[in-house]
Amino acid sequence: MDKDPFYSYGSYLKQRYGIPAFRVGIDAGFSCPNRSGGRLSHGCSYCDAFGARAMYQRTEGALSDAVDDDLKADIAEQTEKAVRFLKKRYSAEVFLLYIQAFSGTHAEPDRLRAVYDYALSLQNYSEFIVSTRPDCIDRDRAELLASYKEKGLDVWVELGLQSAHNQTLKRINRGHSVEEFEEAYRLLQDYGIKTAVHLIFGLPGEGLKEVRETSGYVAGLNPQGVKFHNLHVPYNSKLYEDYKKGLIEVPDTGQYLEYVITAIEMMPGKTVVMRLTCDSREDERAAPKGFLKKTEFYNLLRSEMIKRKTFQGRLYDKSLI
Ligand code: SF4
Repeated sequence: MDKDPFYSYGSYLKQRYGIPAFRVGIDAGFSCPNRSGGRLSHGCSYCDAFGARAMYQRTEGALSDAVDDDLKADIAEQTEKAVRFLKKRYSAEVFLLYIQAFSGTHAEPDRLRAVYDYALSLQNYSEFIVSTRPDCIDRDRAELLASYKEKGLDVWVELGLQSAHNQTLKRINRGHSVEEFEEAYRLLQDYGIKTAVHLIFGLPGEGLKEVRETSGYVAGLNPQGVKFHNLHVPYNSKLYEDYKKGLIEVPDTGQYLEYVITAIEMMPGKTVVMRLTCDSREDERAAPKGFLKKTEFYNLLRSEMIKRKTFQGRLYDKSLI
């Protein structure tokens, strides 16, 4: 069997734990400042308002610092269901808590602590992973997240950048700049928090040139992880309006494959490639249609890179760091 041409998340977890490890994804009831909180914004143009669970009235998480009983019951139910499924299906033994919906640090630090502590108390976890936005990270939040390392947990933050071009961030209404992203990223690194950078390839107005520039910028930060997503157009999104008018193009499998190979070639060899494609239901998105499934894309990418005799880091420019 050929050696893997890139450092996949599966390889990383296997190296670290010796056996497969599994994420327990939890919606902890946080909202997103880009969709709520006085900005009167529809959020990122590709955001599907119903893409994440919406069991709670999302009010900035600025309720009490305590975790109310309804939220506790919901988190407990989500955990129980996920762990039961993972044990039954995969005989899972190693679990990673993943606070995934909306912005996982969008609340006052005391409330965040209460929610995190409760969620972590429900299962024996090896890692604590939080997905969030740059404008939801500051010193207090970084300090709080770092405190979980002292409890023996590996702590990761998945931080959304999407593109290293401010013009694009504006166009997709991200609500933050590249500079704000970098400030949050550096703060997390200062606190020794492993950081995975979220990127979307094929955003409006972007092609291979922009993918190269974004990848070069991210590679220069030397992150512990990256997550790549292909652009999706949910029916229930602002982007769909532009798509209907023919104003945007969405990369097909072939184009996206080129983007991902380019990005992987530019990343440092030690950066874990934690994700390759976006997940959404085919019937909930206008485009892309007929895109390969996750495993199919992984297999295609792997065989294409082997065929081209290329590998992660082949074009990594150390002078960027
Ligand atoms: S940051 Fe995420 S949840 Fe918030 S508007 Fe953008 S896509 Fe939606």
